[in-house]
Amino acid sequence: MTLRARLTAAFLAVVLGPVLLGAVFVGVAVAAVSDQRATERLTAGADNLRAALGVTCQRLRIAAEAAALLGERPDAAQVAVGRGLARAIEVAGANGTPVAVAGDLPARPWADCAAPTGSAFAAIAASVDVLDAQGRRVGRASAVEPVDATLLQWLGAATGVRVSSLAGPQLTADDTKVVNLARDLVPGTTGTTEAGLLVRRLDPQPGQPLTLAVSVPEPDMQGLYAVLVAVVVCAGLVAISVAWWLARSTTQPLTELAQAVERVAGGDLGARVPVRSQDEVGRLGQTFNRMTREMQGYVQALTASRDQLRGQLGVLGDTLAGTHDLDRILQVILQTATAATGAQAGVVLMVDQAGVDLRGQVGEGLAGIDVTELRLSPGEGLLGTVAATGEPMRGRVDRDGPALSPQEPRCVTYVAVPIAAPAAGPTTGLEPQSDRPPAARGVLALYDRHGFDEFDDADLVTLRTFAGQAAVAVDNVRVHEEAQRLSLTDPLTGLSNYRYLRESLRREVERASRFGRALAVLALDLDHFKEVNDTHGHAAGDAVLAEFARRLRAEIREVDFAFRQGGEEFVVLLPETDAGGAAVLAERLGAAVRRSPVLVISSTAGQPPRRIPVTVSIGIAVFPVHGATGAAVLEAADDALYAAKAGGRDTYRLAGSATSGKASAEVTPGAAKAAQPPRQSRGG
Ligand code: GH3
Ligand code: MG
Ligand code: MG
Repeated sequence: MTLRARLTAAFLAVVLGPVLLGAVFVGVAVAAVSDQRATERLTAGADNLRAALGVTCQRLRIAAEAAALLGERPDAAQVAVGRGLARAIEVAGANGTPVAVAGDLPARPWADCAAPTGSAFAAIAASVDVLDAQGRRVGRASAVEPVDATLLQWLGAATGVRVSSLAGPQLTADDTKVVNLARDLVPGTTGTTEAGLLVRRLDPQPGQPLTLAVSVPEPDMQGLYAVLVAVVVCAGLVAISVAWWLARSTTQPLTELAQAVERVAGGDLGARVPVRSQDEVGRLGQTFNRMTREMQGYVQALTASRDQLRGQLGVLGDTLAGTHDLDRILQVILQTATAATGAQAGVVLMVDQAGVDLRGQVGEGLAGIDVTELRLSPGEGLLGTVAATGEPMRGRVDRDGPALSPQEPRCVTYVAVPIAAPAAGPTTGLEPQSDRPPAARGVLALYDRHGFDEFDDADLVTLRTFAGQAAVAVDNVRVHEEAQRLSLTDPLTGLSNYRYLRESLRREVERASRFGRALAVLALDLDHFKEVNDTHGHAAGDAVLAEFARRLRAEIREVDFAFRQGGEEFVVLLPETDAGGAAVLAERLGAAVRRSPVLVISSTAGQPPRRIPVTVSIGIAVFPVHGATGAAVLEAADDALYAAKAGGRDTYRLAGSATSGKASAEVTPGAAKAAQPPRQSRGG
């Protein structure tokens, strides 16, 4: 059953109930009053009837007296009848023989006004004795009135009720019914005929010698009842329409609200309800609209932040997968962490190379602070404490934070976690366990969440995840750098290898050509190295190669590059150096190699160390003089080396011009520009 139907029913019950009750009450009360009035009319009619009959008897008695008094006048009775005192008069002698009769004498018996006996009299009469002059009774005079239609109609007119005689005549069919009913009635009670007449019987009594029935029409309740029913029906119709309207106006907003709520439940937060009034339902609608509006705002904000976070995570994934630039990775991790927690600012500090102090690495949302300038010693301020203890911290600075170092960013709320070093390699489980957390490699901290709510445990967990990623990223970058270094380094000599030579040559040629500078390329090959191997063994040969590389590194500048091209062949790149400078280095290098034999300690126990003399041949070529590309210059240097070998070894040759083919020329060191003094090598 709908709310509207229930409201309608309730209203109808409230309105129609009293209307019906009232109608019934009015009906009953009016019927009772009408009955009472009819009975009263009947009673009054009966009283009047007795009085009227008393008057009639009085009149008949007067008529009889008159007839008796005027006995000697034979026409006395005639006169009395003629005057209307009675309808008939009989004067009888002492023996009862009529002596004079006036009018039509009705048939006997007559009801005697003085002493009524029996019933069913068709006439009433009053009789007096006729006396002679001596006062002796000489006869009897009777005045008679027949109980006929005239008398009954007169009585009816005089009393205001219908009067019927049980002895007849019955004037109408109603009279017959009234009389039939009255015969069965107990005196003093009232009956009702089928035709709706209230009837009462009057028995004879002194002054009223007849048995009569008085009747009045029953009050007509039909009309009243019809009116009442019409009123109730009208009231019902009005009540139904008012109830329907009320229920509709009450439930319409609720229906709309229910529909809107269903739409919201279905995910449509744009649902609104029309507000038509300021009552409770109107306020409910307003509140609902406000609620959905705010929910829509929240959802939009959530969606936006989710999209932002998704974008950030995408960037993070790409960055982690695509670069080994540590600062870039840390920056993206920091941005993602701030986006994920709603922080306004953040910073990443890493332990410096010495493994002691914290250095600012990247920052986010820290206007006016150069993060790379940040230096904190262990235990200093908030970040130093987190790094020193390895324990994360969160809270409010003014309440539970450790005193901030003057260098640290200012903040209200904070959360800071250590970036821990990953466990070093697999463990056997037998090592003694340390109570202390592993030393932190750095600290990841976020400041001042939007709205200045405190960071909660969920933020802490999130941040620890990001710190874990940062730790892995740092590790990856270091591993990658090491791998990079190893892949480009010759393990025996520590010099860069052939792969790196190609790359460096390309880069240096490009740089030299861009700035219009010279680039000297030296090709080196140890002389008769096969014999070294053959004489002293391969291990001794390796030792000679390593020593040669050491001496080579010692002779070149920091900006120069030395490579082991393969076997006992080496290449040196001398940026911004012309043929003269290269020749100076070649000269010096040859001397350094030649100067002292290489001391090789035997691997076999008890064997004395061996001294192995070594010399080197060198070919020199210069970009762009001897070749337009790195490969061409290197080839020219190789050709010059070949020339040096051909020239007797332990010497150097400068390549001929690029166009002059493989001709080489010896260069005197004095003619060349003095090379800069050697510095510590950067190779290796
Ligand atoms: P030259 O260059 O003066 O013409 O004579 P050479 O004996 O040096 O001639 P060649 O260049 O043909 O010989 C190179 C030898 O270097 C061959 C090989 O046994 C030796 N060699 C190459 N690589 C290594 C190495 O890594 N370790 C050792 N011990 N020997 C090597
Ligand atoms: Mg060789
Ligand atoms: Mg050789």
